[in-house]
Amino acid sequence: MTSDITRASAAELADALSRKDISAVEATQAHLDRIAAVDGAVHAFLHVDTDGALAAAKDIDQRRAAGEDLHVLAGVPIAVKDVMATKGLPTTAGSKILEGWVPPYDATLVSKLKAAGMPILGKTNMDEFAMGSSTEHSAYGPSRNPWDLERIPGGSGGGSSAAVAAFEAPLAIGTDTGGSIRQPAAVTGTVGTKPTYGGVSRYGLIALASSLDQAGPCTRTVLDAALLHSVIGGHDPMDSTSIDAPVPPVLEAARRADVKGMRIGVVKELGGEGYQAGVRQRFEESVQLLVDAGAEVVEVSCPHFEYALAAYYLILPSEASSNLAKFDAMRYGLRVLPEGVDDPSAEQVMAATREAGFGDEVKRRIILGTYALSSGYYDAYYGQAQKVRTLISRDFAAAFEKVDVLVSPTAPTTAFKIGEKLEDPMAMYLNDIATIPANLAGVPGMSLPSGLAPEDGLPTGIQILAPATKDERLYGVGAALEGLLSDRWGGHLLAQAPDLAHLTSAVAKEARA
Ligand code: GLN
Repeated sequence: MTSDITRASAAELADALSRKDISAVEATQAHLDRIAAVDGAVHAFLHVDTDGALAAAKDIDQRRAAGEDLHVLAGVPIAVKDVMATKGLPTTAGSKILEGWVPPYDATLVSKLKAAGMPILGKTNMDEFAMGSSTEHSAYGPSRNPWDLERIPGGSGGGSSAAVAAFEAPLAIGTDTGGSIRQPAAVTGTVGTKPTYGGVSRYGLIALASSLDQAGPCTRTVLDAALLHSVIGGHDPMDSTSIDAPVPPVLEAARRADVKGMRIGVVKELGGEGYQAGVRQRFEESVQLLVDAGAEVVEVSCPHFEYALAAYYLILPSEASSNLAKFDAMRYGLRVLPEGVDDPSAEQVMAATREAGFGDEVKRRIILGTYALSSGYYDAYYGQAQKVRTLISRDFAAAFEKVDVLVSPTAPTTAFKIGEKLEDPMAMYLNDIATIPANLAGVPGMSLPSGLAPEDGLPTGIQILAPATKDERLYGVGAALEGLLSDRWGGHLLAQAPDLAHLTSAVAKEARA
C-alpha cells in the first residue's frame, strides 16, 4: 500500500485524497517512510521536516472532514529546493555560509504551496548557490542518481529531481538559472519546467543571477507539472519583475495534449557534435513520433546560440558577484574570526568568513564577475555579453515567426559519474549548452524523458521551448509526446526506474560497509 502511494502521480494522489480513499497523513507518512528507507543512499534531502509535514497533513484531513472546499492538490506532499526561504525551516542554498540560518519569512512560492494545503516534506540538496550541473558543489555532499547511485542526478537542482525520481516525493520545486530544472530532469527521467521569466515569483528565492533565475515544477508527469505550475504561478507585487497577468492555461493544454497542425522547429545548432549518440537517437525518434501524430516539423537555425554559453558565463558571474556581496558575516549565518588577529576589523572578519564559507566554484565565479564588471573591462566583457543576449532574443523571435515551439535534446549526455567532471569547470559548464539560451531570452522551457540511451541504459531528455508567456504550448506538446512515448515504450519511463528494493538494499549495503 505504502509503495503504491509513493508510485502514484500527484494527480492520482489528488484523486484518491478527494475520494477519501487515503488521508493526507497517510500520503505524507508514506513519503516520509520512503525517505527514511532510501535517502541515506540518494541524499536528495538536506533537511526533512517530519513534524511540520505531518501537522500540515493533519490539518488538511480535518478541514476535508469538515467539508471545506479544498485546493485539488491539498494533502499532496512536496519537496522544496533549499534555495527557497521557508519560515522556521533551515535554508542553506547548499552553502556553509548559510549553515544554521532559519528564515523569518516564507518565499511567495512557499506561501502558495501552504495556502494550497500541500505538506512540505523538506528541503532538497543543490549545488552551492545553484552553481553547477551535478550537486557535487553542495557543501553538504552530492546527491545520487536513483538510476545509478554512482552517477550524478544533474544540477544544480539534483536533490529535487532525485527525490522525485526515487519516489521520495511526488512533486518538488526547482530553480533554473541556466538549466537547473531541465538538465536534472533529463538525467533522472523526470519532467522539469522553467516557466517564462517572471511567471513565478522570485520573492524569497536566494538570488544567483536575478535576470535569469526562475523557479518551477519538478515532477514525473506533464499533467503534474501543470497542476503545480498553476499553484505557484501568477503575479506577485513583492517581485518587481513578476508578470502582471493570469497564469497561462497550462492545465487545459496538458489535458488537451494535442500536436496536430502544430509547427515544431528543430534547432539546428543544438544536437550535433558533442551530443551522445543515444541522446541524439532518442531525440530523433521523439521528433518522428510528433511528425506521425500530425505535427509539421522543420529545421530552424538560431545562429547566435553558439555564443550563449560564453555570454552566460559573463552575465551570471557578474550578477552573482553582486548578489553574493550580502554574505558579509554581519547579517546572516556564518561568522569566522581571523586566526591570530587580536582586534579584527569588519573587513578582516568578512574576508575570513567568505574564505571559510564559500566553496571553490562560488569563489571562482565571484572573481570572474568582479573582473568582468571592473572599470576598463566592463564594456569589453559584460557589455559585449549583453549585446549577445539581445542577438539570442532576436534568434528566438525570428524562429517563433516560423514555428510554435522549438525542440532539442535537453542535455548533451546522460548522467555522468560522480567525480568525472569535478576538476574541469568547462566540461561541467558544457552540460547546459542547450538550456542556457532560454534563460538569456526569458522564454519558457520543459524537459521530458525521451527514453533510455541504448549504450548505457540511462534516461535521455527532450527539451521544448516556447515564446515568452506562451507556457501552455510546452504542456500541449509535452503531454502529447509523453503519451506517444508511453505507447512506444509500453508505459512511463519511470516504471523502469530502479525499485524500492534496489535502493533499500543499497542503503543496507552502505550500512554494512
Ligand atoms: N549549471 C548552470 C550553472 O552552473 C546552471 C545553474 C542553474 O540553472 N542554477 O550556472
